[in-house]
Amino acid sequence: YQGKRGAEDIVVFAGGAAGHPHQWLKVQAELRHALERDELVLWYQPKVGLPGAGINGVEALVRWQHPERGLLPPCEFLPAAEHSGLIAPLTEWVLRRALIDQAGWTATGQDWTLSVNVSARNLDAPGFVGYVTALLAETGARPDRLMLEVTETALAGDADNAVRAVKELGALGVGISVDDFGTGYTSLSHLRGLPISEIKIDRAFVADVDADPQSQAIVRSVIELAHGLGSRVTAEGVETVEIHRWLVDAGCDEAQGYLYGRPVPWPQVAVEPIAEPITERTAR
Ligand code: C2E
Ligand code: MG
Ligand code: MG
Ligand code: MG
Repeated sequence: YQGKRGAEDIVVFAGGAAGHPHQWLKVQAELRHALERDELVLWYQPKVGLPGAGINGVEALVRWQHPERGLLPPCEFLPAAEHSGLIAPLTEWVLRRALIDQAGWTATGQDWTLSVNVSARNLDAPGFVGYVTALLAETGARPDRLMLEVTETALAGDADNAVRAVKELGALGVGISVDDFGTGYTSLSHLRGLPISEIKIDRAFVADVDADPQSQAIVRSVIELAHGLGSRVTAEGVETVEIHRWLVDAGCDEAQGYLYGRPVPWPQVAVEPIAEPITERTAR
């Protein structure tokens, strides 16, 4: 039993150290410097249209080029940022950097929409909509080429401020996307009356949708729900051609995943051509 208990302890302590509250103070102090020293970087993952799989847009995904620890994924520092005041300056940095990058790809002739993830705390903060409005004016970006991704849970409960912010952003013409849909344990009634332009089906349901009947039922009903609400629907985490084909058949509008392209700095954004199924016609 000693051995078993020991093994469990190791699992507990080895898991997600940087996401653990004990590490937050250190991460917070370092992150403050990182923002001052411009150590954050944005990588972009393509969002492709179905069935053709051409690039419709890109999603900005933040990384931290840490001076000692190398390139850190968001799970290593976002929890600490969320639990301190730092998520506000972090999101402001991300939005500004991403809109500047968008001006860069627009200048090279790419008409990609830009998706940016925002946290519940951002939507709750009183100055957020004003910040976005000012930034759009300053950068000259078109509001309808910007999409803000919010999670379902950010809109649930007594999220009065977040709901108001989403309505104001929608009125500006900014797209609102509900990210990781299906994982939030929230009631669908929260979506009613909101200007939702896109629903993103969580990777958990997409990963086995070509094989699992329950995932298939869930994904089909989310597609129908999205279309019924007048929204587009995007599947995240598409890794295989079989899943891609299933989604095309099910009428999904857009997809994202390693099959098409991983997150990279924007000048490297490109999509892999999708192999066509071998039929008698193409085999000849
Ligand atoms: P998300 O918005 O749902 O982004 C999708 C995540 O799944 C990204 O991880 C992406 O790299 C990963 N992914 C994409 N395609 C595939 C695939 O085919 N297979 C697998 N296994 N994974 C795939 P990443 O970049 O580590 O971001 C994780 C989360 O961190 C994001 O989830 C988002 O919630 C948050 N995040 C990222 N950047 C920002 C940001 O700038 N601000 C805020 N507030 N949150 C961010
Ligand atoms: Mg997202
Ligand atoms: Mg997502
Ligand atoms: Mg996700």
